[in-house]
Amino acid sequence: MSLFIRVNGCGNAWPVFLGTEHPFYDRMNADDMGSASYAVIGCMGKNYSPRTIEWEIIIDAGHNTVPFLLKNENRIPEALFLTHAHPDHITGVDWIAQSLKYTSTDSRKLPVYATDLCRQQVLETIPHLMNAVVFNELKPGRKEFVKEVPGLAVTAFPVYHGESSQGAAMLLVEYAQDADAPSVLFTGDLLFPFLRNEDYATISKAKVMYIDCSNRFSYPASNHISFTTSKPENGKVSNYLEEWQYKNPVERCAALQLKDANEDYRRYFDRFIQENNNYANIPFSVMEFLKKTGIPIVQLVHYSGYHDLKHYRQDELDQKALQKWAKRLLAVTGLKNVRLDVPKTGIILKL
Ligand SMILES: [Zn+2]
Ligand SMILES: [Zn+2]
Repeated sequence: MSLFIRVNGCGNAWPVFLGTEHPFYDRMNADDMGSASYAVIGCMGKNYSPRTIEWEIIIDAGHNTVPFLLKNENRIPEALFLTHAHPDHITGVDWIAQSLKYTSTDSRKLPVYATDLCRQQVLETIPHLMNAVVFNELKPGRKEFVKEVPGLAVTAFPVYHGESSQGAAMLLVEYAQDADAPSVLFTGDLLFPFLRNEDYATISKAKVMYIDCSNRFSYPASNHISFTTSKPENGKVSNYLEEWQYKNPVERCAALQLKDANEDYRRYFDRFIQENNNYANIPFSVMEFLKKTGIPIVQLVHYSGYHDLKHYRQDELDQKALQKWAKRLLAVTGLKNVRLDVPKTGIILKL
C-alpha cells in the first residue's frame, strides 16, 4: 500500500473577487476557483493509479471541491476530515454526503471527523446535514483511529483562527499500518497554533505539511498566519503584529475558544496556558513554525496576497513568483534544507 496526497483545490475563500483579476488564480480556470482541499489516497502498489485506489479521505470540501472530484476519479470518499467550519471549507460537504445517501442501497451517512466545536458550527451553518452525515469527535491532542480505513489515524490540534472559527484545528494524519509510514500535517487556516510543548514533538514527525500562506507579511487582523513576521522594507518585526499581540493577550484568545467547549478542550487549554502565558514561544509565521518543527517538506496553500497589497503595498504574486520569493527567504534565514513548493490544483505527492 502506498499513500498519496492530492491537492483538490489550493485557493483561499475567494480566489478572485468579482470584477477583478488575480495573478495567482486564472478566473477562466474552474480548478483555480477551488478552495484548499486535499485527498489522502491509499493505492495498492508503488505508483498512483485510479484503478488501484483502495480508499480515499478528503480533508475539507469547499468551493469547487465536488466538481474537481467528479473530474478526477469520480468516487465517493470513505470519510471526510474538517479543519474548521468556514464556508470555503465546508460548502462541498452536502454534495458529497447526498451522493453517498442517494447511491448507497442503505442510505448511508457520510462519516465526518471534526472537533466538537467545529461540528456545532457546521450544523448551525447547514442544519440539514444532521440527516446526511455522522460525526466522529476529534478530541484535542488525542489520536483517533479512522474506522473506515484500518491503520489510519488523525489527531486534531487546536489553532487560533479568529472568533468566527471556534474549534479550528490542524490535523496530523498518520498511517500506523506500517511503522515507517510517514505522516502529513494539514494546518487548515490559522493565525497561530495552540500547541503544548509535547505536541511539537508529535508534529515534528510529519514529513510534509500543507500550510495556510494567505499573506506573505503579517496582518493578524486577517486571522491568517503569514510567511514571515518581518517587514518588507527592513526585516524588523511587523508593527501590525506587535500591536495585535499587545491588544489580544494569549489568555483571552484561549478563553474565546472555550466559550462553548467541553471538558476535553478545557483540560488541553489549561496545559497550554500553563506553558504559554505570552506569545514568546508561539510561531506567527510559516518560517517560525518550520524552525520549531523541522518538517522537511512544506507546501504553501490558500494564498491571497490581499493584505500584502493593502497594508504593505507589496504586489500580489503568481505561483512562480511566490515560490521564488519564499525560497529565497528560506535560504537567507538558515532553513536551506527545507523543500518548499507552491502546489497548484491536481498535484499528487507520494508520501
Ligand atoms: Zn479558508
Ligand atoms: Zn477559515
